[in-house]
Amino acid sequence: MILFEHVGKTYPNGVRGLDDICLSVEQGEFVAVIGLSGAGKSTLIRTINRMIDITDGRLTVDGTDVRTLKGAALRRFRRRIGMIFQSFNLVTRATVLQNVLTARVPDLPLWRAVLGVFPQEDTLSALAALDRVGILEKAYTRVDQLSGGQQQRVALARTLAQNPQIILADEPVAALDPVTARQVMDDFKRINRDLRITVLLNIHHVDLALEYADRVVGIRAGRVVFDGAADQVDQAVLDAVYGGKAGADA
Ligand code: ADP
Repeated sequence: MILFEHVGKTYPNGVRGLDDICLSVEQGEFVAVIGLSGAGKSTLIRTINRMIDITDGRLTVDGTDVRTLKGAALRRFRRRIGMIFQSFNLVTRATVLQNVLTARVPDLPLWRAVLGVFPQEDTLSALAALDRVGILEKAYTRVDQLSGGQQQRVALARTLAQNPQIILADEPVAALDPVTARQVMDDFKRINRDLRITVLLNIHHVDLALEYADRVVGIRAGRVVFDGAADQVDQAVLDAVYGGKAGADA
C-alpha cells in the first residue's frame, strides 16, 4: 500500500508543489491523476520512488518510510517501482531486446553487465515481457525504427522485466496520437489486471482517465480536490479540478 499522510512539497524556490496530500493506494489499483498543467501531478507521482523528496508529512510504501531510505536500501526499493515517461527514455540505436535487458543489469555481476552477457532466464523473461505488450516480433529491431507507440511499449516491457510491484507513469501517452494512446492504455490495463501491479499515472486526457482508470484523483494547486471512482466523475468534479474549464490544459 502507498500511503500519503499530510504530505507536502515546497521546492527550494518556495513554490508549493504539494500541500497536505492524504491518499492511500492499495496493491493492484489503477489510479489516474488528473489536473491542470502545474497542478502537481508529476510532483505527486515522483515522490513515490523518491525522484522528488517530500518536505512535510509522511509517505510510506508497504510500511517503509520512503524518506528514510538511502544507499542500497533505496536502490532495492526503487527496483520494485517501474517508471514510465512521456519521452520513452530508450537507447534508440540498440535493439528492442537490448533495451529490455537493461532492466536486468542491476541484478547482474559486473562482468556480465559490462560484456552484455545475460543469463538465458533473463533473455526469456525479457521476451515474455515483449510478448505481453504485443511486440515480440520486434525483439531484434532497432528502437529507432519503431513508431512512438511501439517505443512506449518497449519502455513498458523494460519496466516489466524488473518485476515491479508498482508502475508509475508520467504522462505516458501525451506524445502519442489518439489511436496509439488507446493501445498503450490497453497495455497498462492488461498488465494491471493480469499481474496485479499497481498503476498510478498522470494523464491530461480526461476521457482516457475515465475510460481506463478504476479510481481518479483530481488535484488542483497541489491539493486533492477529488478522490473517487471514475464513474463518479461528473461536471461538478471537473469544475472543481479544472475550475470550469473542463478538459482544458492551462
Ligand atoms: P503537473 O505535473 O501537474 O503539470 P508539476 O508537478 O510539474 O505539475 O508542478 C507543480 C508545481 O511545482 C508547478 O507550479 C511547477 O512550476 C512547480 N515545480 C515543478 N518542479 C519544480 C522545480 N524543480 N522547482 C521549482 N518548482 C517546480
